[in-house]
Amino acid sequence: MSFLCLASMASAEEFKVGLPIQCELEKDCYIQSLPDLLETEDTADSFCQGATYDGHKGVDIRLLSLEDIKRNVPVIAPATGTVKAVRDGVKDILMTTPQDRQRVKGKECGNGVVIEHDNGYETQLCHLKQGSIAVQKGIRVNKGDTLGFVGTSGASEFPHVHLSIRKDGQWFDPVSGKKPGSTCNVTSNAETLFDADTIAYFSENTSRLIASGVSGSVIEHKQLVIKGAPKQASIGDEAIVGWAWFINLRKGDRIKFLLEGPNGIISEITTDPLERKKASYSAFSGKRRTVEAGEYKLNTELLRKNKVIAQSLHVHIVE
Ligand SMILES: [Zn+2]
Repeated sequence: MSFLCLASMASAEEFKVGLPIQCELEKDCYIQSLPDLLETEDTADSFCQGATYDGHKGVDIRLLSLEDIKRNVPVIAPATGTVKAVRDGVKDILMTTPQDRQRVKGKECGNGVVIEHDNGYETQLCHLKQGSIAVQKGIRVNKGDTLGFVGTSGASEFPHVHLSIRKDGQWFDPVSGKKPGSTCNVTSNAETLFDADTIAYFSENTSRLIASGVSGSVIEHKQLVIKGAPKQASIGDEAIVGWAWFINLRKGDRIKFLLEGPNGIISEITTDPLERKKASYSAFSGKRRTVEAGEYKLNTELLRKNKVIAQSLHVHIVE
């Protein structure tokens, strides 16, 4: 009897969620922001690092640019439960100005779904694509069922899905299982609310090189989140430019570019250390010259102190 009793208690305590999105992490979607575990003005993510911003209460998994919204990437139920609330009808617009912030006031989650789970937990998914919500209030959903598609509705600066977890009105960090407090003291993920497959994607190092390429003109950071990778260099372009796009860079990080063309090295630079952390950042290096046919190679390294944190080799053939 006592064995049975213990067993049922253990399963009632167990609440684990999976990823709220159907995509291939590190390939076509990325962990952009973690929750802010500090109730003060300072910030600390699930690992007491900086991949968060003041007051953030969830995990954000992003797509590269607005172009990716067209792919209809499914937002899925992170655990089995009953749909408690839905909202649709909010436009997919990037929030870039104070006016935009005002426009989404009270609708910060944009198009969203709240799911009530069996053991008092609630999950909330935000910023879905307008018109994509595929569930109604009161219906039962299984873990992995499609709720809608990733969008950028509400208070959203890039296409992503935001996952929050609450119990009795208190929100929890899904990664560490902790609730916010006045100090950050996460030492392990033993209490994580993610299932084993999902927690494996999360680590203290959230810095990623998410795209790079060789283009025929300088790049504009603002355009990356709108259009994605710029057009590749082609014959007759007036410059040859190697570029790279990163997320979650830290203060002091440097970027090293080596751009080579059919006649040898075109440019080789290492940027100055960053003066502060950057949630999203791009850099480029190149020369003003008419692009001719041949093979162009861009080697990019993200340097932290003297260690290489991320690296990519991009080869582009102009013909
Ligand atoms: Zn978020």
